[in-house]
Amino acid sequence: MNPSPSDAPRTNFVREIVLEDLKTNKYGGRVHTRFPPEPNGYLHIGHAKSICLNFGLAAEFGGKTNLRFDDTNPEKEEQEYVDSIMDNVRWLGFDWEDRLFYASDYFGQLYAWAQQLVRDGKAYVCDLSAEEVRKYRGTLTEPGIESPYRNRPAEESLDLLERMRNGEFPDGSRTLRARIDMASPNLNMRDPVMYRILHAEHHRTGNAWSIYPMYDFAHGQSDSIEGITHSICTLEFEDHRPLYDWFLEQLGIHHPQQIEFDRLNITYTLLSKRKLLQLVEQGHVRGWDDPRMPTISGIRRRGCTPESIRNFCNSLGVSKTNGVIELRLLEHHVREDLNKRALRMMAVLRPLRVVIDNYPEGQTEEVEAINNPEDAAAGTRKVPFSRVLYIEQDDFREDPPKQYYRLSPGREVRLRYAYFVTCTSVVKDASGDVIEIHCTYDPATRGGNAPDGRRVKSTIHWVSAANAVDAEVRLYDTLFTHEDPNECDDLNPASLEVLTQCKLEPALAHVSPMERYQFERLGYFCADPDTAPGKPVFNRTVALKDTWAKIEKRGKN
Ligand code: ATP
Ligand code: MG
Repeated sequence: MNPSPSDAPRTNFVREIVLEDLKTNKYGGRVHTRFPPEPNGYLHIGHAKSICLNFGLAAEFGGKTNLRFDDTNPEKEEQEYVDSIMDNVRWLGFDWEDRLFYASDYFGQLYAWAQQLVRDGKAYVCDLSAEEVRKYRGTLTEPGIESPYRNRPAEESLDLLERMRNGEFPDGSRTLRARIDMASPNLNMRDPVMYRILHAEHHRTGNAWSIYPMYDFAHGQSDSIEGITHSICTLEFEDHRPLYDWFLEQLGIHHPQQIEFDRLNITYTLLSKRKLLQLVEQGHVRGWDDPRMPTISGIRRRGCTPESIRNFCNSLGVSKTNGVIELRLLEHHVREDLNKRALRMMAVLRPLRVVIDNYPEGQTEEVEAINNPEDAAAGTRKVPFSRVLYIEQDDFREDPPKQYYRLSPGREVRLRYAYFVTCTSVVKDASGDVIEIHCTYDPATRGGNAPDGRRVKSTIHWVSAANAVDAEVRLYDTLFTHEDPNECDDLNPASLEVLTQCKLEPALAHVSPMERYQFERLGYFCADPDTAPGKPVFNRTVALKDTWAKIEKRGKN
């Protein structure tokens, strides 16, 4: 179930380390990784990179990957996030089998280890306030100052630690700290806090604990308990590695190798659960699964396939320097994959009424349309054609500019799968806007070719008015106008456009949520969960490359 070898990432330095460790038999030939999300929000596409790397490496070398919730921060964590994370990892196509763990499962063991370090003189209870701890810590250029509690007898620290645990002291009044080196050039080694007092209810352990371990004291030991071999995390943890190693060495327990790689950043996109939570809370989006969100839930609702996300992630480098990936690369992978699997349909988003004056009134015929030119097995379907049709407003210009080859007065074009039509006249409303056009068709061109060999320069799509299904279509642009967005500034006011007058071919009347199609010439679309029977709602997943839009843009620049 985990990714097939063809999904395996191209080689990278993490993979090379694993290969070397296998060669030297460092972990007895084992490869055991983990994906360790904190359940304080929904996963985003940055997490997908980490998931693909961790599960991908293990799968390639016959190893295992655990899913572990790093749930040491009860104030920000919730069951809803736990559930969504599991759902998203599965959707991406990965399976942790029976290896679902929680750091909170280890609270008892972590506490026993903390006591052991106190007894060994390697940890102490400190009565400094958070503010004082910060002050005593020093700076990058100045050493820190030792806490006055640093040399407190182990017995006293053990007693205080027990009472901290039992809830005797208020939040923030004491901490348990590792006794390392206040002069270390690495600030993380200056007697870091291991436990803090926090009277908060935990989503799994309830009120059992009044103290919670810090990330650095929980993470490595959790890896160790689970027998992890390669603990892969992002670059910001590089400076924490000496501490990761220190705890494991002092405790004398299984010692995984921490390896740091670059975080995924994407243009026009914020990848931080904290910032994404702000977008949700401030109502800038409809929720964590808003199709504009870079969350797995959002990307999924928008219509991207898990394969396309895996292909994108596996195409990324894994390196030691953070960079920024172009959003276009993600869109490319989404298009590539949907091109292979999405059935083609005709839909008109901004309808313009067309009357074919020489087509018999009341007549309907069926033309044959190809479901997917990329997949002959997808077959064909019948599409009704009649006297009154809709075409895109964009496919008609009363005064066509140069290089505009679609319909205009006197011009002949092909209606996809149907006939050649020529525009003969237009109808305008009081304000002079074209509201209807009239055409004639050439019955000899049925199927889209003229027996006399005459050519047309353009083929446009259409929907028969009498048979059309009304639909809502939601078009998306980037959430931010800035390539490198800053918090919730730079929001794009035009990130969502809702079209409610759309006309679909009748085959789409009974579409189910999450079905994906290519609407010819418009892009890839996915039925939203808001779809009701007979009332389709579609999200545009990604547009096709539009040659005319490019020409027009070039003209303006
Ligand atoms: P965020 O800031 O979005 O909350 P995080 O790193 O705090 O990210 P965690 O839940 O702790 O989120 O992350 C779980 C794993 O995913 C970690 O190993 C982390 O390094 C990795 N990860 C998080 N963001 C990215 C990213 N943008 N690119 C690659 N890996 C990431
Ligand atoms: Mg975090």
